Amino acid sequence: MTSNTPLRTSSLGFPRMGGKRELKFALESFWKGKTTEAELLAMGKKLRQDHWLLQKEAGISVIPSNDFSFYDQVLDTLVMIGGTPERFGAPPNSLVQYFAMARNSEEQTAMEMTKWFDTNYHYLVPEWTSGLTFRANTSKLLSEVREARALGIETRPVLIGPVTLLLLGKAAPGVDITLLLPKLTEVYRQIIAELHAEGVTDIQMDEPMLVTDLGPSENQAFRSVYNQLNELPVKLMLTSFFGGLGDNLSLAVDLCTAGLHIDAVRAPEEVSAVIDSLGTDQTLSLGVVSGRNIWLTNFASTQPLIRLAVEALGPGRVIVSTSCSLLHTPHDLQTEKKLDPRIKSWLRFSGEKLFELVALASSDEEATKANAAAVADREVAESSRNTAVRKRLAALAAGDFTRVRPYGQRAELQNARLKLPLLPTTTIGSFPQTTDIRQQRAAFKHGHIGRQQYEDFLRKATEHCIREQERIGLDVLVHGEFERNDMVEYFAEYLDGFAFTENGWVQSYGSRCVKPPVIYGDVSRPKPITVEWSSYAQSLTKRPMKGMLTGPITILQWSFVRDDIPRKDTAWQIAIALRDEVGDLEVAGLPIIQVDEPALREGLPLRRSEWALYLEWAVEAFKLTTSGVTDAMQIHTHMCYCEFEDILPSIAALDADVISMESARSRMELLQAFRAHSYPNGIGPGVFDIHTPRVPSSEQMRELLGLALEVLRPEQIWVNPDCGLKTRDWTETTAALEHMCSAAAEARSAF
Ligand code: GLN
Ligand code: ZN
Repeated sequence: MTSNTPLRTSSLGFPRMGGKRELKFALESFWKGKTTEAELLAMGKKLRQDHWLLQKEAGISVIPSNDFSFYDQVLDTLVMIGGTPERFGAPPNSLVQYFAMARNSEEQTAMEMTKWFDTNYHYLVPEWTSGLTFRANTSKLLSEVREARALGIETRPVLIGPVTLLLLGKAAPGVDITLLLPKLTEVYRQIIAELHAEGVTDIQMDEPMLVTDLGPSENQAFRSVYNQLNELPVKLMLTSFFGGLGDNLSLAVDLCTAGLHIDAVRAPEEVSAVIDSLGTDQTLSLGVVSGRNIWLTNFASTQPLIRLAVEALGPGRVIVSTSCSLLHTPHDLQTEKKLDPRIKSWLRFSGEKLFELVALASSDEEATKANAAAVADREVAESSRNTAVRKRLAALAAGDFTRVRPYGQRAELQNARLKLPLLPTTTIGSFPQTTDIRQQRAAFKHGHIGRQQYEDFLRKATEHCIREQERIGLDVLVHGEFERNDMVEYFAEYLDGFAFTENGWVQSYGSRCVKPPVIYGDVSRPKPITVEWSSYAQSLTKRPMKGMLTGPITILQWSFVRDDIPRKDTAWQIAIALRDEVGDLEVAGLPIIQVDEPALREGLPLRRSEWALYLEWAVEAFKLTTSGVTDAMQIHTHMCYCEFEDILPSIAALDADVISMESARSRMELLQAFRAHSYPNGIGPGVFDIHTPRVPSSEQMRELLGLALEVLRPEQIWVNPDCGLKTRDWTETTAALEHMCSAAAEARSAF
């Protein structure tokens, strides 16, 4: 860029946990009753101030407020509009009442939680019931504006837009959400008017629903709402993110807001079309620094986009921004002391992303040079490249993706080998991760006990688990997964191409954070991962033992994935590594291997038109993992959700010999879909919910089995819980499994 005047910059939101997860610890100690509400409020205030000052000092021109939350921004929005679920009574006026909606208590179940678009952040789902009457409550909103002002910072408050909010909620039976729209618009008008009265001139209106498939009524909702909101004397920045606008582009422009924000990281190809369609005085906010990933921005490919916008619109109408809120990236890199310095030089967390924004907006020559050097270094790094893996990837043939015989013939071979009864019983893999297991692992990690001692302990735990399963009478056993901290990190630690951060935490929900591993290079498996534990377990029992692996898509989904090769290639590299593991487990004599893919569904793109492509390579990744074995090997998979209808053909295409899944809570409803599709392979619909300590009776489980038997062939059905048992304690676990086995025995006796 030739102009010397820097462009304006904005961040759409900053992570709120704090660099040391201060908010997490403050929340948890408040919930335990160890600290007071005043102390928690003070921590919130301190974090907001720190984050505003950080952004100001970095030189960001448009700084957000109301992006902070003590639990969830959707819940905060409901409080703001007086739209909290009716079943909790009047909207909260204390933090205790606020948390009561977010967290289960003895008196009441919390609001439901679900994933925020395609991120790993979970929001609380609005409950749209007929008796809701909205009423503006701007206290949080205004106090944040004032707090920032006291620091000399004029903020741009963030609101979740009314249409997105409405569409994120779940309507009670008989409630037509479009009827809520006029009331909702009215309350937003009032909120905006109050912000205006407070001296606020600009508002960020988050409407990420604009990047999803919208029908005519949703289209209409956008038009009617913004028609009314635009009458107000404030400038609305309509923000779309997590994808391109696609066929909603003209809708977004037609809404005639003062500005439009687009996600130019996910949809750079859309930038010029947006520029061409903008109205003559609309501002363009270009989201060029990713809020979803941790890699440095490639300045050389980003600068032309900014230049294009500036040339067409003039510098005054362009803002250089993050693609979305930085909520989904860790706080900052400064505390990373153990990370390989070379890998670290390719990373940018939230704090560092601010500097990228400013550098891009001011065409900082030095920063551009340094960026080019880092990008080039990443490109040539030998440590990220594994020629052997690339060769194998290139040499894959159709035969690598399919078992030899079709399911029916495989089943015969497997039955002959396994000799299982009808309605065989099993579990999903993990057994209680008790405090002593966690303590031993921590002691080992910190060097307080040696490997020998730790592994002796794990061997005892495994043996105990196997004896319990035998005593209970389960047919197919598992080793219990006591050696695993987490189903992704455990595998990642054994694979090349992964790096780990000390503080790369990202909020998942409430006080809960996850620290995804970083895939920086080609993935490969230097040595077997699970073979020792699985063979040890098999050596302890005559019953069939199930080897237990996390699938390629789940490992991909729950990691930070590199952005310099296609996602599919990384998935397939992981699949090749796991395929070798599957092969080694077969050689070691395991007769069954389960490959868990709980994250297969959440990887679905936001746009339906993109589903087929994703599902194709995701299914192939699974098949690549599991097809290198003889047909006598029984492959299981597990998924912990029950929404299968729309992806059932892909589930069938996995061609797993047995699939287990969650279904107790929905009372086997999902099986209808399997029947409609005449799904032929084995199915283990969970007969008890593992999320609650309640132990269901054997009659209850027998009843669920009865429902399954009505829809499926008896030879297809497996009997198992909904998911792994790691969060339960032993007493609940053994009681529930005993009930499960007697329910199976009773059902069997009918044949
Ligand atoms: N095998 C894992 C377990 O039992 C599966 C966990 C999951 O599906 N999320 O814990
Ligand atoms: Zn599960």
